[in-house]
Amino acid sequence: MYEVAVIGAGPAGASAALFTARAGKKTVLLDNGKNIMKKALMLNHYGVEEISGPDMLEKGIAQAKGFGAEFIETEVTALVKTDHGFKIETGNGSVEAKNVIIATGMQTSLGESAGLTTKPGTEPRVKTIFAVNADGKTNVEGLWAAGVCAGVSMHTIITAGDGAKVAVNLISELDGKRYVDHDVLK
Ligand SMILES: Cc1cc2nc3c(=O)[nH]c(=O)nc-3n(C[C@H](O)[C@H](O)[C@H](O)COP(=O)(O)OP(=O)(O)OC[C@H]3O[C@@H](n4cnc5c(N)ncnc54)[C@H](O)[C@@H]3O)c2cc1C
Repeated sequence: MYEVAVIGAGPAGASAALFTARAGKKTVLLDNGKNIMKKALMLNHYGVEEISGPDMLEKGIAQAKGFGAEFIETEVTALVKTDHGFKIETGNGSVEAKNVIIATGMQTSLGESAGLTTKPGTEPRVKTIFAVNADGKTNVEGLWAAGVCAGVSMHTIITAGDGAKVAVNLISELDGKRYVDHDVLK
């Protein structure tokens, strides 16, 4: 049983997973390898002069893994609420997690089939988003949403930041106090 499962390893999901892993929460990050950023070039990500979509995706997953998240490349086919959390069915077996952060970008069918309330998107080309509160919580207890699927602007600095924000809120709820993840130069 994982403490946290993150579905989608774009900027929002990988950022969320690296935070939950660093916080010592047993984390699994799942992605189907079909990210639309494969042709993207980012020149507007604060602190990074230039990075390609493939490089950002690879570094994001590597960073999450480096802090202890387990990465599984697979299609998530179903997300089912159970008495103890969630059962996440994939193309190659299932995993269970107490909490889930869904970060599936423009793809909302998985979340919709899990019972998430949706509403029309407001960003260009984004038809549907999940209804979330300011913390990133959905209508399903234990299921949070981050990034484009939660309605934020389609820019990597914003979606990655939203993933981090939602992860910090989830960690804080699990710990029962506000969480801060700071390192200092030695
Ligand atoms: C061509 C292009 C150029 C861009 N250029 C810029 C730019 O210059 N600057 C900038 O800031 N932003 C740019 N962006 C936007 C940026 O890529 C988005 O903000 C970002 O990709 C969205 O992040 P996300 O994590 O919310 O979603 P995504 O990156 O879309 O991640 C969602 C992930 O979930 C996976 N997934 C979905 N459903 C499932 C499932 N059922 N099972 C398993 N995995 C699943 C997807 O395959 C994907 O990997 C560009 C995007 C594109 C497409």
